[in-house]
Amino acid sequence: MEQDIIKISNLEVFAYHGVLKEENSLGQKFIISAELFTDISEAAKDDDISKSINYASVCKAIEKFLKENTFKLIETTADKLATYLLKKYDRLDRIKLEIKKPWAPIHMSLDTVSVQVERGWHKVYLGIGSNLGDKEANLTEAIKLLNEDEDCDVIKVSSLLTTEPVGGVEQDDFLNGALLLRTLKTPSELLELIGKIEKELKRERIVHWGPRTIDLDILFFDNDIIQTKELTIPHKEIANRLFVLNPMCEIAPWLRHPVLGDTMIQLRNKLSE
Ligand code: ATP
Ligand code: CA
Ligand code: CA
Repeated sequence: MEQDIIKISNLEVFAYHGVLKEENSLGQKFIISAELFTDISEAAKDDDISKSINYASVCKAIEKFLKENTFKLIETTADKLATYLLKKYDRLDRIKLEIKKPWAPIHMSLDTVSVQVERGWHKVYLGIGSNLGDKEANLTEAIKLLNEDEDCDVIKVSSLLTTEPVGGVEQDDFLNGALLLRTLKTPSELLELIGKIEKELKRERIVHWGPRTIDLDILFFDNDIIQTKELTIPHKEIANRLFVLNPMCEIAPWLRHPVLGDTMIQLRNKLSE
């Protein structure tokens, strides 16, 4: 998908961010530039501003945010402002934001100092499973907790399928599904949230691959390929598990595995053979 950009260049706002007390009391000029990544095709076709991002509104929102909040660092200011705008404007997929300080008080002459950040919504697929207690209620509660996090929106949930357990431990059937999430979190922040939700739903790690009230796995995170001590993305077992591929085929049949190169349907066909 191609991305269109709406650009705002050098918007001036007088505000009070800074490490020094004088900056907080006297204030100074901040100059903001932004690239708003969005899809303008519908707005362009219908010549309708309500289907685009109204840049006048964005400029006012930037000014309001910068005047109503005071941060020490322009790093923090840029990070928080980017997040604020991504949440406020539904059509905003990604933003590149630069905050310049032309009057930075360093007793030397310079044009500007600035910080530029790029933030956006990530598209994430999670595998969800439960085989202890009221399984459906556990899954519903986990989905609700995910959606309640201010940096996450659950967009699509597959139907829930009953699967016999794998891994050789004697235990009850699993109820499994998959969901699509949009999130502003990084992969490790998302792993942390998942851990918190698992804990809240009283998951106890007793036996590996044993019974659990809830298991949330990150299947895909954008098209990222990640290998760290805590995280393997895409999840390492996707191609070996029908209880993952079946719900994934329901919500994202044409999604392509970034390492294996196959779509969800192709992976399911190969595994079923
Ligand atoms: P499996 O990962 O084979 O489905 P499991 O879900 O039972 O097994 P857990 O005990 O839930 O395994 O997780 C063990 C660890 O796996 C977690 O603490 C986490 O650090 C790590 N992990 C690695 N990659 C991922 C991922 N993509 N999603 C979730 N956890 C992951
Ligand atoms: Ca798992
Ligand atoms: Ca897990």
